[in-house]
Amino acid sequence: MNAKQMYQCSICDSTWETQYEAEECCQPEVFTVWMCGECDTEYDDKDHAEDCCPEVEPLGTPHGWQSHIDELERAGQTRLSFGDQL
Ligand SMILES: [Zn+2]
Ligand SMILES: [Zn+2]
Repeated sequence: MNAKQMYQCSICDSTWETQYEAEECCQPEVFTVWMCGECDTEYDDKDHAEDCCPEVEPLGTPHGWQSHIDELERAGQTRLSFGDQL
């Protein structure tokens, strides 16, 4: 008598002729969760996860930004005065 190898689902004990069928039998249920990138708290939906820890806004303007604007204004004035001379 020939022995026949079968593949058994480890969850419901069903037997299958191919390993593929057995693996497909009781696939684990996969849930989607959203996680706060800051403190790793899990949420069911994205909005809650995004609202968990507020993003820290950089305070004030970067150093040197105001002096850069002053430079641009000076350059503009210089160009204007050139135009007046011509
Ligand atoms: Zn199964
Ligand atoms: Zn958080």
